[in-house]
Amino acid sequence: MDGRPAIVQSTSPTNDDTFLNLLCDGFGDSVLLGEAIPASCFSDWTGHAACRPLALVSPATTEEVAKLLRLCNDHHRPVVPQGGMTGLAGAAVPSADSIAVSLCRLTGVESVDRDAATMTVRAGTTLQTIQEAATQAGFRYPVDFGARGTCQIGGNIATNAGGHGVIRHGMTRDQVLGLEVVLADGRTIDLMNGMLKNNTGYDLKHCFIGSEGTLGIVTRAVLRLAPPQGESHTLLCGLPSYPAAVALLHRLRSAGLALEAFEVMWQDFYTMSCGWRDGQLPLPTSYPLYLLCEAEGDASHLEAALEAALETGEVEDAVLASSTTQARGLWAIREATGEFPVKLAPINFDISLPIPAIGDFVETAGKMLQQRWPGVRIVNFGHIGDSNLHLTVDGRSLTEDTPATRHAIESAVYQWVGKYRGSISAEHGIGLLKRDFLHHSVRPEALNVMHTLKQALDPHGILNPGKVLN
Ligand SMILES: Cc1cc2nc3c(=O)[nH]c(=O)nc-3n(C[C@H](O)[C@H](O)[C@H](O)COP(=O)(O)OP(=O)(O)OC[C@H]3O[C@@H](n4cnc5c(N)ncnc54)[C@H](O)[C@@H]3O)c2cc1C
Repeated sequence: MDGRPAIVQSTSPTNDDTFLNLLCDGFGDSVLLGEAIPASCFSDWTGHAACRPLALVSPATTEEVAKLLRLCNDHHRPVVPQGGMTGLAGAAVPSADSIAVSLCRLTGVESVDRDAATMTVRAGTTLQTIQEAATQAGFRYPVDFGARGTCQIGGNIATNAGGHGVIRHGMTRDQVLGLEVVLADGRTIDLMNGMLKNNTGYDLKHCFIGSEGTLGIVTRAVLRLAPPQGESHTLLCGLPSYPAAVALLHRLRSAGLALEAFEVMWQDFYTMSCGWRDGQLPLPTSYPLYLLCEAEGDASHLEAALEAALETGEVEDAVLASSTTQARGLWAIREATGEFPVKLAPINFDISLPIPAIGDFVETAGKMLQQRWPGVRIVNFGHIGDSNLHLTVDGRSLTEDTPATRHAIESAVYQWVGKYRGSISAEHGIGLLKRDFLHHSVRPEALNVMHTLKQALDPHGILNPGKVLN
């Protein structure tokens, strides 16, 4: 025994038919069974471990979610909350005996409070709908990423999603003021705080943010809104080294600019991405690193900072976009990651490291991988301002791209991350895919507290079993 509290596994005391009858009696048309369950709920964006759940239920109110969880808890039936299924960690993948709970009917912006700059929303509302409602009200909801049209705010909260703009506005956690959550036994806890300041004991909402549906189902939230974006500038620079990138980060911040993005592409990434595009290169492929930066503020401050950086040699060459079209062209180079699934056989890493150590990590981890898998191709880019590195191994460059090799590569990289006291997941979460590596980032005492929390809130272990924790 390692001293962890035991979680009672959710072996159902009720057979499937009896349970399904109770489910259909209680939830009628909201229940889908067998062939009627759409394949879109078998796995998330990764396609990992696709499986048809026993049933799919789509409650339309918090009360229905509470009633459903009470029933499942009484019968020890596993429950898998599902949002837009755009997750990248296998966290919403159901098992064959589970009840998938889709939040797709619990939608809508309930209200916008202009004085408080907050918005109250239901969990199934898409990120894009929230962004549009914020814009319409004269604000901005600053979390943004490619899955905006499909992912739901409940899923964003459950994964503590990041995306563009984290350097300035923080992750989803930083936008959430209040939550309504239904616990495994059906109790609803109202944490719908709408105030910026509220120090009243433990801030329970943070237990649920990033918990990947293992501690409760989020049904509503109060979100904080930001002012609309001001004039923004897009800059691409060729850099001599990683330390130069860190020096430039400091320089641009000190120039009084609000950085919206600070994305560093290593030479292999830039060269590959430019090779996939037609037309003239904005900068030659000869620099060791490239920075794509988006900054809000006075253009003259940016120009002065850039001039100084060119003088000191921190920057070797630069292009400042003079139009939206040109800015989009520069972003297209960085957004080559969207083409990875088609053009590479990617083994993706979404890791966090202390900012000053990232350059060294790229070098040493690269050497370590080359030694063990000669000829392996690695491409790197990072949201460096957020301490987030995306290292990608191209499976096509391996002599044998097998699940065992992939697992060995993951294990080697995560071990290396542990040595740097980094995080094996910067923003995509743990889910199923990284669960077995969690110990590289979370110390045994902290893991033990996580198990204690899970046991306290979900003693029968019905909520998303097997995700995050073993
Ligand atoms: C093209 C693309 C780009 C992406 N870019 C980014 C990015 O830049 N940054 C980033 O962080 N992520 C990114 N993602 C990953 C993904 O979009 C996010 O993780 C998103 O927050 C998941 O939301 P979802 O509604 O799709 O959740 P799902 O995938 O449906 O579920 C994810 C997890 O949340 C749980 N869950 C869902 N709804 C609830 C609820 N109401 N209550 C409790 N638990 C719930 C599920 O059980 C599961 O554990 C990207 C994905 C794609 C496909």
